[in-house]
Amino acid sequence: MPARVIDGKAVSDTRRAALAEQVQALLARSLQPCLAAVTVRPDHGWALYLRNQAAACAALGIRHRVVELPAGASQGELIEAIETLNLDPAVHGIILQGPLAAPGSDFNELQAQAQLSPDKDVEGVNPANLGLLLAGRQALAPCTALSAVALAQAGFAALGRADLTGVEACVVGASTIVGKPIAQLLLAAGATVTVCHVHTRDLSAHTRAAELLVVAVGKAGLIRREHIKPGAVVVDVGINRRQLADGRTETVGDVAPEVAEVAAALTPVPGGVGSLTTTILLESTVT
Ligand code: NAD
Repeated sequence: MPARVIDGKAVSDTRRAALAEQVQALLARSLQPCLAAVTVRPDHGWALYLRNQAAACAALGIRHRVVELPAGASQGELIEAIETLNLDPAVHGIILQGPLAAPGSDFNELQAQAQLSPDKDVEGVNPANLGLLLAGRQALAPCTALSAVALAQAGFAALGRADLTGVEACVVGASTIVGKPIAQLLLAAGATVTVCHVHTRDLSAHTRAAELLVVAVGKAGLIRREHIKPGAVVVDVGINRRQLADGRTETVGDVAPEVAEVAAALTPVPGGVGSLTTTILLESTVT
């Protein structure tokens, strides 16, 4: 039987409806949540992302501000922009967006993340928030990690399993902002967690033991049928763009389609983890 699809969009729609009510309650008290995105020279891709973010905010009644630094802005100007938003009581969430955080950028991303007020750090990237996550007392955690774990829970719930307590979980990918936070959240949920990465010697020995497999690598088709324990729940965090023969591009995850023949439940790409991530960003802003 093919794997059940864990529908990230459906989970997102349900949570957005609840969030809309929360925002309305705040608006009734004359409090409008505000998300500010700090960016520099957004290119076409990032500009589109920011427009989508703005539309999602507008649909819920959340204010969205874009603070665009001039081309050639210095690290000092970035820090100053963050500090202004930290001190502005009308701003509740701040994200660092686009080329600022891109590999090869001239900005010192770690220093900028550390400058974010921990209370407004809606992406959970400030070292204080990452530390709380490690302590199992997270307030604001990385949105993608929260999304992946929420969909893992939805997958287990769909199979009649109440929670993740005692579940054998394997996370493939160990980045600071995706793989490691996923592992910490799973630990906090009571799972037994193995983390694999580029130096892991025998990947399938670990993945095949997992009742829950979460993959966050960025390599299309890395995970195949032979990596899967039959009946496992699989959460695919990967986003890979592939050029098709006719020139169009498609977005695929890290998990090959054949995995659907062995797994019990699987998140699609697109329509899985990515669909819920923005909703969680907006939830964190309201929080
Ligand atoms: P990253 O490049 O920072 O980290 C990749 C990780 O994969 C590293 O820990 C590396 O050791 C590991 N890895 C690389 N090759 C491997 C291999 N052959 N076997 C096992 N492990 C291997 O990437 P990232 O920022 O963590 O993102 C991972 C993926 O998640 C990317 O595809 C990215 O686009 C996607 N992503 C999705 C969302 C979302 O909302 N769905 C958000 C952020 C990132």
